Amino acid sequence: MRILLVEDDALLGDGLRAGLMLDGYGVDWARDGEAARLAWLAEDYDACVLDLGLPRRDGLAVLKEVRAHGKRTPVLILTARDTTADKVAGLDAGADDYLLKPFELAELHARLRALLRRASGSAAPLLRHGDLALDPAARRVTLADATITLSAREYALLHDLITHPGHIRSRQELEGGLYAWGEEVESNTVEVYIHHLRKKIGADMIRTVRGLGYVLGESP
Ligand code: CA
Repeated sequence: MRILLVEDDALLGDGLRAGLMLDGYGVDWARDGEAARLAWLAEDYDACVLDLGLPRRDGLAVLKEVRAHGKRTPVLILTARDTTADKVAGLDAGADDYLLKPFELAELHARLRALLRRASGSAAPLLRHGDLALDPAARRVTLADATITLSAREYALLHDLITHPGHIRSRQELEGGLYAWGEEVESNTVEVYIHHLRKKIGADMIRTVRGLGYVLGESP
């Protein structure tokens, strides 16, 4: 899962980025409105956490523009603007949810999970594929009710695959969910973690589609 984090406050942005990465998301952090606009138009993010008061370009203007370009990214607005008119303007500009500063990190994570869940077409908190179940709130994976212990990156890969049922995920797309901007990416990272995952959940669970990427196997 790749998140675009837009926040100009260095301290808050740094904390949010670290928290999101701990939760297994790949994070691109844009520190002003123009950087956010450029990144957003160039990439397909799974969600965007968007501050409104930003240097160079206001968050609402950025949101309106990317929506006009057909970007359907789920958006959680994060702001200190607390009037009803502000909330209405944010939601009408195409945001999906709204969180007021100051906020608890746990609430931000829960709202983000809810957005991602709905975006993947499921309102249920548990993501399932055959005997495999992934609980994003508890970060817990079970296979036929037995708990499987996964590393943060194995979990992130599986989460990506299970939220795109029936879609082949390219190596680049999967990689995007593992890293933040500026991090060194080893060329065979995805293959290595897929290999680890197959050992833990069964070789047939993840299918390789030669030249294209990976997809979860047929649900039994
Ligand atoms: Ca701000």
